[in-house]
Amino acid sequence: MVSATAEPLTDEIHILWTSEGMSCDGDTVSVTAASLPSIEDVVLGAIPGLPKVHLHNKVLAYENGDEFVEAFRQAARGELDPFIFVVEGSIPNENINGDGYWTSLGNDPETGEPVTLNEWIDRLAPKAWAVVAAGTCATYGGIHAMAGNPTGCMGLADYLGWDFRSAGGLPIVNVPGCPVQPDNFMETLLWVLHQAAGQAPVIPLDDKLRPTWLFGKTVHEGCDRAAYYEQADFAFDYNSPKCQVKIGCWGPVVNCNVTKRGWMDGVGGCPNVGGICIGCTMPGFPDRFMPFMDEPPGSSMSSTLLKSYGPFIRTMRSITNRSANREPKWRHNRDRLTSGYQPRWPHT
Ligand code: SF4
Ligand code: SF4
Repeated sequence: MVSATAEPLTDEIHILWTSEGMSCDGDTVSVTAASLPSIEDVVLGAIPGLPKVHLHNKVLAYENGDEFVEAFRQAARGELDPFIFVVEGSIPNENINGDGYWTSLGNDPETGEPVTLNEWIDRLAPKAWAVVAAGTCATYGGIHAMAGNPTGCMGLADYLGWDFRSAGGLPIVNVPGCPVQPDNFMETLLWVLHQAAGQAPVIPLDDKLRPTWLFGKTVHEGCDRAAYYEQADFAFDYNSPKCQVKIGCWGPVVNCNVTKRGWMDGVGGCPNVGGICIGCTMPGFPDRFMPFMDEPPGSSMSSTLLKSYGPFIRTMRSITNRSANREPKWRHNRDRLTSGYQPRWPHT
């Protein structure tokens, strides 16, 4: 577990959120579905004890153009303190950009030239009270960083270094997922905000910088199809309610809580509702999981072993199930009691 120390903060904080990396804005869109807490709850101060939050996210902002970028410029000049820096999207390698740039946010007022995302990260990350990577692209590179990509892009810890510490003394906080599960992100942000207010201990992160309470278990450990797996009862098409490991589910080796949590308010998910887990939260995503719809190579051994006793267990359980489905024979409307009742005193 990673530990860090952080000073308690003020009662007002900015969140500077950039999705200017190699990004689809899917994580921003996803968190608008959160309810534990919702963005509105955080921004409108509905949660007691939280600092007053000013959110700067281009998808949700009232400001446009330069007016929106101004908060980022102020933070870079040290005029917006404290702030949490949220990065969405993977970070391209601007050392190989030729004469241009891969991605940028706003223009430099002096030169009129685009300011690359990488320049913003260089300016803002060391000044930020906490740095949070939203989604698998920002955390580990994700889909944009797959084999054959032209930008050489990467995750935030690959760019800043895995031992990076923010101004608040925190490591990068990684919340992976493609997209991020709405409440997973907002719950993590809530912890960081509470910590900033001096009301929560240091956020517990694992060695991949993920919150331990969200990513400490596997998809399989929370999947309500795991009972089929245990009985070697597998789906061979996508319409089956059974375990999908034979048709591409990577759940047993993937750290994610979506099968336990559902997607929005407990509704939806992935393998629990019929979609194979493609490992979208994982540092090895997507390359280590492709082609998605093939059986994961490691699953054939366990499923073959299970087949040696799974059908036997299933048969035994179905016999017991039939018995459990029968009412005891003394439940009847005949004129004699047959329940085995022994009166303590004989009837007079
Ligand atoms: S569907 Fe996937 S996660 Fe669910 S039990 Fe099967 S292998 Fe495990
Ligand atoms: S269950 Fe698998 S595919 Fe679904 S969100 Fe989690 S890691 Fe991604």
